[in-house]
Amino acid sequence: MRVRVHRGTEEIGGSCVEVEAVGGARLLLDLGLPLDADAGVPVPLPGVPGLTEPDDRLLGIVISHPHLDHYGLAVDLPVEVRVFLGAEADRLLQAAAFFSPLARGPRCAGHLMDRTPFELGPFTITPYLVDHSGFDAYSLLVEADGCRLFYTGDFRAHGRKAALFERLLREPPPDIDVLLMEGTHVRADGAHDEVVFETESMLEDRFVEACGQTAGAVVVFGSAQNLDRLVTVYRAAKRSGRTCVVDLYGATVASATRPSIPQPGFDGLRVYVPQRQRVRVRESGEFDRVARIRDVRVFAEELAQTPGRFLLYVPSSTAAELVRVNVLTGRGLAVWSLWDGYLDEASGVRLRDLLVAAEVELDHIHTSGHASVVDLRRLVTALAPRRVVPIHTEAGDRFTELFAGVEQQSDGVWWEAA
Ligand SMILES: [Zn+2]
Ligand SMILES: [Zn+2]
Repeated sequence: MRVRVHRGTEEIGGSCVEVEAVGGARLLLDLGLPLDADAGVPVPLPGVPGLTEPDDRLLGIVISHPHLDHYGLAVDLPVEVRVFLGAEADRLLQAAAFFSPLARGPRCAGHLMDRTPFELGPFTITPYLVDHSGFDAYSLLVEADGCRLFYTGDFRAHGRKAALFERLLREPPPDIDVLLMEGTHVRADGAHDEVVFETESMLEDRFVEACGQTAGAVVVFGSAQNLDRLVTVYRAAKRSGRTCVVDLYGATVASATRPSIPQPGFDGLRVYVPQRQRVRVRESGEFDRVARIRDVRVFAEELAQTPGRFLLYVPSSTAAELVRVNVLTGRGLAVWSLWDGYLDEASGVRLRDLLVAAEVELDHIHTSGHASVVDLRRLVTALAPRRVVPIHTEAGDRFTELFAGVEQQSDGVWWEAA
């Protein structure tokens, strides 16, 4: 079996790994959009035969999880190209597409199931459900020609599903030849080498504290697709005696996944429909989208009358509206629950200016979606692979300092996996 990483040996995002068995059958693991891609500017596909013209030797594309930097280039492929993704990830992207055309997912030929191997030609692929900020995320064990490659995809060990990581350490797949491991937090300057990240339950405590100290509404700006964070915010609302309010987009995505995720029908959860989403519903004529949540819908008037009774989890694009309708006032609190780097971008600066003008305090409560270096070390120790190859990192050259058996590869170059 041989491998070439098309993108990812020197950058975070845009991951794409091609695997070829003896005889020429091939697979792709992820086909992501680079994080630095400008909206609306097409990104060329990697030079993989079969992506644009028919090629029987390309057996399929296995997408590890529903983040754009892993599936973004797989959405407009010819129908002959078979794409595999988790069932809930597939439903999540389909649900999100109505609100955000960017979130449009690939057409799926089949679904991944935790620890259930499936075969594509000479390849046996076993997905391992992992803890990540993206929902329904998998690491992938790929076997062919007696060779075993374990691709971590994106993962962490401090989220709501941390038990999955501990289980992987307890029951690691044996005889791994190559561990292709993400290294988001392996930094050139080593700044994150010893950092231990806050867990989602620690964040929950901080949200509870914030609610206790705030007379007005607490408005958390986060990603509708980060369902771990939704669970954290919902639990914090319960503990604080506040009603959790999500927008229609968040409610729709949550309802598309599984019954255990907070969604309309849950005690103490209501739905606010921001103007932009009202317009979207009206233009589409899909009025059943709001009819379905009628019983739990909350309007701006009620939120503004008793703001201290509510904890909102909404996109930051609703900030100006919430200020305008007097839901978010100087007595309330805004919380940024995303990567703080976004606050330095143009939209982040606009948001901060808006909040300053409205005299609303801005707090930052967030934790990374990616494993700490400490947890990466634990994984390497447990799997004891013959070789470790860096991916999804800006500092692959630092892997040798941190882990045993590292062999750095370059984008676009084939190498033998065994
Ligand atoms: Zn990623
Ligand atoms: Zn991810």
